[in-house]
Amino acid sequence: RIVHVNGEFLPEAEAKVSVFDRGFLMADGVYEVTSVLGGKLIDFAGHCLRLARSLRELEMTNPHTDAEWLELHRQLVARNEIVDGMVYLQVTRGNPGDRDFAYPAADLPPTVVMFTQSKPGLAESPAAKTGWKVISVDDIRWGRRDIKTVQLLYPSMAKMAAKKAGVDDAWLVEDGFVTEGTSNNAYIVKGNRIITRALSSDILHGITRAAVLRFAVEAQMEVVERSFTLAEAQEADEAFITSASAFVMPVVQIDGKDLGTGKPGPVAARLREIYLDEMRKAAV
Ligand code: PLP
Repeated sequence: RIVHVNGEFLPEAEAKVSVFDRGFLMADGVYEVTSVLGGKLIDFAGHCLRLARSLRELEMTNPHTDAEWLELHRQLVARNEIVDGMVYLQVTRGNPGDRDFAYPAADLPPTVVMFTQSKPGLAESPAAKTGWKVISVDDIRWGRRDIKTVQLLYPSMAKMAAKKAGVDDAWLVEDGFVTEGTSNNAYIVKGNRIITRALSSDILHGITRAAVLRFAVEAQMEVVERSFTLAEAQEADEAFITSASAFVMPVVQIDGKDLGTGKPGPVAARLREIYLDEMRKAAV
């Protein structure tokens, strides 16, 4: 693979970042994952906007303009001949030359790392036909989940708990209410009504969430942004998650309880189709 580090494109084995980089020592950095379908970037503008916001919240300077980010993404996609897959991008606070809790001077250049992952047939995932099973786990993450930081240890632990339980993902629960999945936003469906937690610092503001809710309203579905409990989710007609890499993925079981028929529901299937159609059309 050809990866990108601080303005250079080079083979992955030659890419190097300092042991003093604050991303490595303190998870002091942010990231974005953009899907590629047919060689084009999905919802690129949405990812740029959120990246800018995450950086601002951490008082980090955005090292590139949106046009420069686009060019870097396109170069990586081309150099790695990605048809379907992902571009991962991370910006960490850089290498102050030593370990210190205080932020280094604001003019320290951040470290930019980008790489691709090839996923042929990404949009034709067989899992979308069968749906995901999830378990619930306590949400004990920090209080700024709206910032897309590389601090992903707890979501990794939750994913491992899911794997050990023989299911696909975990839904995180706080004070009895579902916040989101390990790396996706969570929804339930009752009749024609789609229910998902409102935006706050409790959850990541999903780029896919924003697009899917817009398409749902355009398709005359009713969208209600409110918290829901695990028990309510288990009694829902259907459920699904959204993320930039899984798009819209049906959820068919929660903590061993089948939802409805135990098969993916029509609302999730329809939203997945609309999302993929519309986003392919708008891809850059
Ligand atoms: N929630 C969390 C915790 C995530 O990590 C992600 C994506 O990585 C999402 C939600 C979904 O966000 P997006 O649709 O922008 O990929």
